[in-house]
Amino acid sequence: MRVLPPSRVSLGLVALMACATGCSEEEAPVPEVVVLPLCPTTPRTCKQVQAYSWADGITVECAPGDEFFLVKSTGVPPYLKATAKLQAQDWEFLVPLSPACDTAPAPLGPASQPHGLLLNGVPFFPALDPKGNDLVLSQEHADECEGSLGVGCAYGYRTVSPCVFGKGEDVAAHADKDGHGALVGLALDGFGLHAPETSDGEPAVDACGGHMTEARGYHYHGSASAPYTLGCMVGATQGDIRYTARLPKECLGPSGPPKM
Ligand SMILES: [Zn+2]
Repeated sequence: MRVLPPSRVSLGLVALMACATGCSEEEAPVPEVVVLPLCPTTPRTCKQVQAYSWADGITVECAPGDEFFLVKSTGVPPYLKATAKLQAQDWEFLVPLSPACDTAPAPLGPASQPHGLLLNGVPFFPALDPKGNDLVLSQEHADECEGSLGVGCAYGYRTVSPCVFGKGEDVAAHADKDGHGALVGLALDGFGLHAPETSDGEPAVDACGGHMTEARGYHYHGSASAPYTLGCMVGATQGDIRYTARLPKECLGPSGPPKM
């Protein structure tokens, strides 16, 4: 996997997501059997990326000729308001504009580091700790949208939130015209993350949770059980998350992040 040149690497802290079962900083294991599909570069234009169903308040910027686009978000979804407990952040997601598959998949980072964002601007994090424990099942403090607070009072998910298009809004109602699950987010390697429902006749997903189709190129699908978002990353180039940490005292108590 290609890494970004030093000038693109984040200078800020990466948000740390609280782990109910005490996950460590080790990388999650890559699934043993991984068959990658043929995955040519999927070219996109900035206009196409900007036309995704982003929530209000999220900006998508592209510099001419740049290989990456920049998504800026507070990480506070429209159905919530920033409070002392739930702090607005300065998230910046740098995402490859035209992703392509690598020769082998890469593991996700630690469960405390996001590996993508949903279209409502909220980051999502790995659901499995290095021992393979399902952190979603032990996530006691998640709200009805499956979000919870991490260090710095940042809001995040480990699943495709049912509220990605708004609280009470049915994700299935946003499906594409052909019935394919809607695009709900982006992985940091640039490939799209779609809602769990797949059209009849689509190939089964691989170990990373994605598949290649003629209409959409390579893309991931969320799932109702682990890994919920993606299990590993297939992209040859990985983006970056810059994060200007806001760490008010209330968010750094000895008992960890506040409860929702
Ligand atoms: Zn699909």
